[in-house]
Parts: sequence; C-alpha cells; structure tokens
Amino acid sequence: MAKEKQIVEVPAYLTVRELANLISASPIEVMKQLINNGIMATINQTIDFDTAAIVVEELGFEAQPIVEEVAEDAGEDTTPQWKRLYAQEDPKSLVVRPPVVTILGHVDHGKTTLLDTIRDAKVAEGEAGGITQHIGAYQVVHNGRKITFLDTPGHEAFTAMRARGAQGADIAVLVVAADDGVMQTTKEAIAHARAAHVPIVVAVTKIDKRNANPERVKQELSDNELVADDWGGTTLVVPVSAREKTGIEDLLEAILLTADEMQIVGNPNAAASGTVLEARMDKSRGGLATLLVQNGTLRAGDIVVAGASSGRIRAMFDEKGKPLKEASPSTPALVMGLSDLPMAGDIFTTFKSDRDARALVEERKEVNSQQHARAARGLSMEDLFAQFEAGTVKELRLILKADVQGSLEPITNSLNELKTEEFGLKILYAETGNISENDVNLAIASQAIIIGFNVDVDNAAHRLAESNGVDIRRYDTIYQVIEDVEKALKGLLEPVYEDKVIGLAEVKKIFKIPKIGKIAGCIVRDGEARRNARARVRRGTRYLVENVAVTSLKRETEDVREVRAGFECGIGLDTFDDFQSGDQIEFTVRERVN
Ligand code: GDP
Repeated sequence: MAKEKQIVEVPAYLTVRELANLISASPIEVMKQLINNGIMATINQTIDFDTAAIVVEELGFEAQPIVEEVAEDAGEDTTPQWKRLYAQEDPKSLVVRPPVVTILGHVDHGKTTLLDTIRDAKVAEGEAGGITQHIGAYQVVHNGRKITFLDTPGHEAFTAMRARGAQGADIAVLVVAADDGVMQTTKEAIAHARAAHVPIVVAVTKIDKRNANPERVKQELSDNELVADDWGGTTLVVPVSAREKTGIEDLLEAILLTADEMQIVGNPNAAASGTVLEARMDKSRGGLATLLVQNGTLRAGDIVVAGASSGRIRAMFDEKGKPLKEASPSTPALVMGLSDLPMAGDIFTTFKSDRDARALVEERKEVNSQQHARAARGLSMEDLFAQFEAGTVKELRLILKADVQGSLEPITNSLNELKTEEFGLKILYAETGNISENDVNLAIASQAIIIGFNVDVDNAAHRLAESNGVDIRRYDTIYQVIEDVEKALKGLLEPVYEDKVIGLAEVKKIFKIPKIGKIAGCIVRDGEARRNARARVRRGTRYLVENVAVTSLKRETEDVREVRAGFECGIGLDTFDDFQSGDQIEFTVRERVN
C-alpha cells in the first residue's frame, strides 16, 4: 500500500524560516529547494503559499492551505493556535491583560524613533529618575491602562518569534512615512500581520515634513485593503510626528480602542508561560533573558525551561532596572538564573520539579544536535571539483560582490564569456557592498562560491563561511578574477580520456578450446601485452572490435599479468574470438588528457 503523505497546513504567507520550522527541516534545506526551483530567498524573506507548497511537496509532504475565513461568515474558530493557550483556560479565570504591540514597517520610516518617543514620553511618567534600559520590551501607561511595546522593530523579529510557534504581539502598529508612502517592506509587514491574525493600526509618521502627503498614504493603504476609518473603512490611521511629539496620545488611544474590540485576556493564576524576547551574557550578572509573560504569573524562584536552557529564576527586573517580585500576563521581565542562553522566540514554561525541567532540556538538546548535523554545508572550490568528478555538479555558481556598480558589469560580462557548452556558469547575483551573512547563507544554500572585488567580508559572514566551508575569494584586479574562474572552469571541465596503446601483439596461430572458444597464439611485437588492459583487434586498416576486456593471457599454460615484446603468448578476448593469422591485437589503457 502506498504510504500516505503527511499533510502540512501552510498559511498564505510565511517566511523561509517559518516554513522550515513547519516541516522540521533546516532553513538551508528549504532555501536549497527554492533555489532548485529558481527562487532566491533569504531566511527571513516572505514567500507565498504556492511557493511554499513546491518545497513542502518536494520534501515529501502535502501542503494544504490554511483557509482564513472571516469569522462571522464561517462561524468557525479562526483563533490562531497560540491564542488557544488562553482558550484552554476556564473562561472564569481569564482577566483582561495589557495589549502587546509590535512596530512594523519599512526601514527609515521612523520605527525606532517612534518607540523611543513613546517610551520617553510615558515610561518616566511618575517614575522620577528611572533610567530605562533596552531589554526588548517596555510598558507604558495611558489613561490608567498599560500597553506593552516590543522594542525590537521590524518583521524579522516578529516572524522569528512566530517561526518558533510563539506569538508576541496582539496588535501591530504599521509605520508608514508620510513623505515616502507604502513600500515593498510595508506590504510584507501587512502580509505578516495578516498571516498572524494580528490587527493593524497605522501610524503615518514624519507628518511634520514639508513634503508629507498623508492622503496619498491613505490611498496606497486602501490599495492594500487597509481602508482608513475617515475613508469609510475600519483601519485606524493616526498621523504622528516623533520630532514634534504630536499624535502620540492619539496613537496610544487607537491601540487601546483596537484592544477593546479584541479579547486580550490571560489567566494570572496559571503556571507562567510566554516567549523569550532577548537573551545575552552580562559580564557581572551572567546570563540574562527577557521573558514576555503571556499567561500565568512568573515569580522569582520559579523553575523555568526556555528553549534548550533551564534554571531557577534568581532575580527579575523591569525595564527601569527595578526588581520585580512577580510578572503578570503581558509583562516583560529581565530574568537571571538560566543555565544557557535561550534564543529570542523560544517559548518558556515553568516547572514544579527541577528534574522534569532538566529532562525536557536534555531532550531538546538532542533534537537540536540532530538538526544541526543535518544542516547543509557550503562548498569550497575543492569540493566543487570532487562533486563535478562525481557528476553531481555541472555548473559553477557565483555570487559577485564589488565595491562599485561600475565594476560589476565588466566582470559579469567577462565571466559570462567563459561559459562553455559543457560547463555552465551562473552568476546568482552581482551587487555592490561588503560580503554579508546573507551572501554566505545563499552560497550555502545554492552551493555557490563568493567572489569579492575590492570589498571586505563582514565578521559574521566570515564566521559563517568558516564554519560552513564556504569559499570566499577576494580580488583587486578584474584580470585575476577572470583568470581564476577560468582555471576553476578548466578544473571542472568534463575530463577527456584517450586510449593509449601500450603494446602490440600479432596473431600467429589460432587454437580452438572446447567450451571456451578460440585463443590467439601471438608474439608480442611492441611494448607489452597486459592482462588488465583493454584490447582492440585490427585487420589491415580496419578495427574489428575495440575496447574489449582481456579474458586470458598465458605464457605456455601459465596465467600471467603481462608479456613483454619478443615473447609468445596465448590471448583470449571477451566477446571476440574470430581471429585470423596476421591480426594485430593492440593493448590500450585509458588516460585522462586534461
Ligand atoms: P526605522 O529604520 O524605521 O527605525 O527609522 P528611524 O526611527 O531610524 O528613523 C529614520 C530617520 O527618520 C531618522 O533620521 C529619524 O530622525 C527620522 N524621523 C523619524 N521620525 C521622524 C518624524 O516624525 N519627523 C521627522 N522629520 N523625521 C523623523
């Protein structure tokens, strides 16, 4: 019976990392599959269902779209999985908790400035002298109600969290600069928020700028199905200026209004669980991790397992460095006492017994090391030669990075001229800038070699390349680049073999051996007759048979390995025995000529 494929539910949009997580594959494996299908994607890049489905299927699963129906139409439970955490609780035990807000949007549209402005305006309120630290999140109070802001902006952080099955945010604030409008990343952010069922509040930033055009932004938003409330839609769009500190109160109000329409609740009496926002080593305090409590109440002394680390919480602090005795749902807490550093996005849970906690950690470490062992390795020139010889690689793939645009074109053109019919050369991309981690990731995934022209290698990229065996070659003259690649291509060219004649024997007599066939009685005229060589038989100018195995070589009655010129011998060949006196038997060996 054919084995049924395991069905995997795939959302309309997800990142490469999320997809990898979904099917328990390494992100590199997923990137490889994408590249095989002509799609270059980085780990944090968003792909759509159709693209994801190709990978899912190639890796042996069946992809099924998650149907995102509107609740009132279907009457179905569209609650994202993470929210079922709360759904498992007795409704009577659930109380309203502060909304957790993430800020998404295009680079330079003002996310960081907005986060700083909100914090400066609000955190210090009533907290004279409190110096806020960056711990990954902070809470503000507006009209007597708390709001938690995740202060690592950008959807990479947001999706990294979702990739681990966690969901930090209840509401997304989409930042769009009034002078720039909706950009590609803005659209990606919208897709991410939608995929996570997180409602969007729009902050139109930089409204103070002379070329600000908020109406145009609203038009572009409605093109992306976010229709502003004053345009008859349901999206709250708030103009703000972080520079002039205007609109901040309105934005907080809009966030609370949105929260009121949702059921943002948690059970403060449950065992604490939530998500790791950040983790780092501190010289004097050791390992520090910021945990966002999403359900239950976390207390100093609790035993916690976060990802593959565990420990008893020795102390907790808030973002002002003030000790916390307990952290209720939606509260970020900087904790001390975990054994290893967990990763941002890891889910944490509390345990009653230290032993259970440690057992779970051991199990997770085992899984991690297996996944690590499965991770793909990069490629050096040497590997490439080997793979080529094995016939698994037929083209040289390159990633080209140069200092200026002007160098890219001549290098690309010259390199493309090196292509031959037998051997392809593919430049995956040619861009300006230093060699980055992203370049190395792509090189690993696509088995490519990185060529740098007058550029440096970022430290992180260097480390990643070292640990994955990726070949990074740097040059400062175009001539050298071309020469080296040409050499590489030569090394990669299919080896050409030639048959070299090592001996010649002439047939004198023919012996018929019952059941075996005819044996040629010969004299070796030149070189030597060799048992493990191949043979061809020439009659006059015509070859009767070529490249046949020598089945027997005898001196008198004795089997021998070779017979030198001047000696007689008996020769038997595979698939041919129709010898005639005067036939020439040439002994050949195959030799590589390039
Ligand atoms: P991010 O990349 O989205 O985090 O953007 P930043 O917060 O770093 O802001 C990018 C640039 O825009 C910085 O130079 C900020 O000073 C500027 N900026 C941010 N908000 C405003 C604003 O409300 N008005 C003006 N005029 N400039 C702003």
